[in-house]
This record gives sequence, C-alpha cells and structure tokens, in this order.
Amino acid sequence: MTAQAKKLAPRDNGAPEYMPNLHPLMVKNYGKWKYHEKVKPGVLKHVAESGDAIYTVRAGSPRTLSADTVRKICDIADKYCDGFLRFTSRANLEFQVAKEANIKPLIDEVQKTLKFPIGGTGASISNITHTQGWMHCNLPGTDAAGSVKAMMDDLFEEFVNDDKLPARVKITTSCCQINCGGQGDIAVNIQHHHPPKIKHEGIGICEHPKVVAICPVAAIRPAFVNGKPTLEVVDEKCMYCGACHGQCPNMEIRDSQTDTLAIWVGGKASSTRGGPAFMKLATFGIPNNPPRWPEVSGALKKILEPYKKTAKPYERIGEWIDRIGWKKFFEVTGFPFTKYHIDDFRFARTTFNTSTHVRL
Ligand code: SF4
Ligand code: SF4
Repeated sequence: MTAQAKKLAPRDNGAPEYMPNLHPLMVKNYGKWKYHEKVKPGVLKHVAESGDAIYTVRAGSPRTLSADTVRKICDIADKYCDGFLRFTSRANLEFQVAKEANIKPLIDEVQKTLKFPIGGTGASISNITHTQGWMHCNLPGTDAAGSVKAMMDDLFEEFVNDDKLPARVKITTSCCQINCGGQGDIAVNIQHHHPPKIKHEGIGICEHPKVVAICPVAAIRPAFVNGKPTLEVVDEKCMYCGACHGQCPNMEIRDSQTDTLAIWVGGKASSTRGGPAFMKLATFGIPNNPPRWPEVSGALKKILEPYKKTAKPYERIGEWIDRIGWKKFFEVTGFPFTKYHIDDFRFARTTFNTSTHVRL
C-alpha cells in the first residue's frame, strides 16, 4: 500500500465485510452447520458438525429506537452474548448466545429492562415492517410507525405464541403507494383518490423533465400558467400513484380528507413451494384513523381468523388463497368484491414487472 493510500479513509461504500461482526462460534463453524431447531418460542438452536451449538434469542423491537434504548440493548448483548447481536430485516433483535445457561437471564432482562416480547421464530406473525415515514421522508400520507404499533398490540399473542398459525405471516405497512412497502403476506398501504394538486407558485424549484418522465402513464406535460412555465396533469390518465410527488413536493398528492388505506394479500419473496408471488388487492377504503387505526386491525383479523382455521400446515396466505380460490376468500373474509379488484389496466401485461426476481 502506498503512503498516500494509507492516508485515505477506509472504503465506506457497498456492503461491509461481515465476518468481523459474526460471533466467534459462527466464524469457526462457518458453512459447517448440521441442523437447527426451535427450542421454544423465540429461541433457536443451531448445531455445527463440530458439535458446537449457538442459540438465538429473538425479541420484537418497536423498530424506531432511541439512542438510549440502543445502548441498553448493547449492554444486554455485552452481558450475555459476548457483545454479539443483530437486527433482522423486520427489525427483530437477535441475541447470539453461546452458553445455554445465559438464555433465561437474558430473556428475563430483555422483558424487564426493554419490555420487548420474545417470539416470532415459528409459524407466527413476524415483526411487522413499516416504512420510515415522518422520521425522514417527504411523502408519507399516514403514520406507518404508529399504525404498526397499534396492529402489533392487537396481534401480540400471534407473535409470542409462535406456532398457532399455519405458517409464517409477514405483514408490511407503507405510508405511500410507490416506495418502501414491500411484498408481504399481508400489506397495508396508503391509497390516494385524486390526481396531485399542483402548487404552480413553487414548482420552479423542481426539474420539470424529471417530473414528466417519472409518471408511469405519461399523464404529466409542460404547461404555462400566468406566462410562467409549469406542469399540468391529464386527470383522465392519472392513477393517483404519487410518483410525481416523490420527484417534486409541489405535486401534492396527500389529502387528509380523502386518503384511505388498502390491504393487499398473498405476496411472497421466497422460492419455497409456489415460488415468489405478487400481492393482490383484498380490501380498500379503510379509514386512515389515528391514533389506533382500529379498522385496520379489524380487517387483518378478518383475514387471519379464517386462514388460521382452514389453511393447511405450512401454507402461506397466498398459497391458501390459490387453493381455496378468490371467490371463497371473499366469502370467508366478508370483504366485498368490486370492479376495482379486476386488473384491467390495458398495459399491465407488457409494462408491469411480473416477477419479484426480474426487474425489467
Ligand atoms: S413508504 Fe413512501 S412515504 Fe413512506 S417512507 Fe417510504 S417513500 Fe416515504
Ligand atoms: S400521481 Fe402518478 S399517475 Fe398521477 S400524474 Fe403523478 S405520477 Fe402520474
């Protein structure tokens, strides 16, 4: 390495080298694991060919954490886990424990100090993911973090009991229609109901060609208002997605009077059994009703209760619906079937991505 290269800061882009962050037992047995099993709700045991075993204790975090709480979490990991823990993509905490005797005191301390539930490792609700919303984004039409807290309070038993559902149920919540809300067995997404309202006086700050280009249905075009260049929307073409609002804050799509929530079902990213699948609309027009969003939790239960009763073991929600059929799904959930459930967008076949793995 040259003297100049030594002076440079370490490379800080791309995925970091993960080996230094793994528990030493995981490094020692990397790629040589024999089997794993669930010891009890929230506790997994991985056994290596060498005979080494490491335990994982999973706790549901509330996702948005203060620095003070993160410090408490780290103190617990230092005390029982040789300083090793990880956050999963669904904001669960996973403490890695080398000594079986440390499991009980660790769980006691997590429950007492952090007041986080232990669970989510089996056929259960996984911690609900939500988007960052008000914390850093300019687009949110609802408080995803707040609605997820309210939903998790209602579905708490399905997280801690860990094996009462036919299979894993992943739920996501998204505060706009276009970005972070990922595929889920059940997804709760905001829904707008009219074209963006353009604030012509401020639109000069936006790059007009980019705003025009981002509209997926070519509904935006250049225009003049009071002799100044601006943009206009062809209302008949607009599908109220809000993509233009992400590009330009003066294309205001949010409306506290008319925005509602919609629930989509059957999404899956994994390749198990039926393969990856896109979610489909189940119900819509649910009031965006803070601070507890009771109508959302009510609708979730309308899906989960019949799923729990009639799905076969290991059948994910999408697979269950495929087997019983959509007609039956609407019967057992009680959701009305409407014309809006029919995907009649004429370019859908050729323009929409049709796989979760292939981005065209
Ligand atoms: S879902 Fe949309 S509004 Fe919410 S944080 Fe992501 S980009 Fe922002
Ligand atoms: S809301 Fe979507 S469809 Fe409507 S103008 Fe904006 S980008 Fe186009």
